Amino acid sequence: MLLKIHQAGQPILRKQAKTVTESVLRSRETQDLIDHMIETLRDVPGVGLSASQVGSPLNICIMEDKAAYHKPLLPEVLMAQGRKEFSLKVLVNPRLEIIETEPEIFFEGCLSVEGYVGVVPRASKVRVTATDRHGEALSFVAKGWQARILQHEVDHLHGILYIDKVRLSSFMNIKNFNNLWRDALQPKIEKHFI
Ligand code: ZN
Repeated sequence: MLLKIHQAGQPILRKQAKTVTESVLRSRETQDLIDHMIETLRDVPGVGLSASQVGSPLNICIMEDKAAYHKPLLPEVLMAQGRKEFSLKVLVNPRLEIIETEPEIFFEGCLSVEGYVGVVPRASKVRVTATDRHGEALSFVAKGWQARILQHEVDHLHGILYIDKVRLSSFMNIKNFNNLWRDALQPKIEKHFI
């Protein structure tokens, strides 16, 4: 089932997510929610989705990046962003630890701020600790674009949107981004917006 993705202005996007207990995680309702989030993310398609974006208060996010999504991007941009495909990850009660604070400066967007993008500095390396959808503990280190997605999604679960962290002068619609900035590397982005 495809879920409605809430847009900025919906109060749930500003709420702290609720810790998911083992019994809540095992419930049919929560397992269905996760399945529907996956279906919704792939339908858009997007690379990350938090439960708050589909109206649920639970502390759950999902992420996935596919090579097919990289087609419009230049190889040198993908390389600079540290963007590589990775398989679906379902993260329950995720916690982040910043490992490398030196920020990477790139544009990002959000399915809840439809039609716009902006430059957000993000740590280049983080460790996430969470459980999977079956309650099994998981932990891994993410770099580059995967680290960016993780920081974006975990922010959602704390009621934070990227527009809270965006360099305001870089905020623009997708059309201008695609026409003017999609192929830009970090030095050019920094020169104009940092
Ligand atoms: Zn988002």
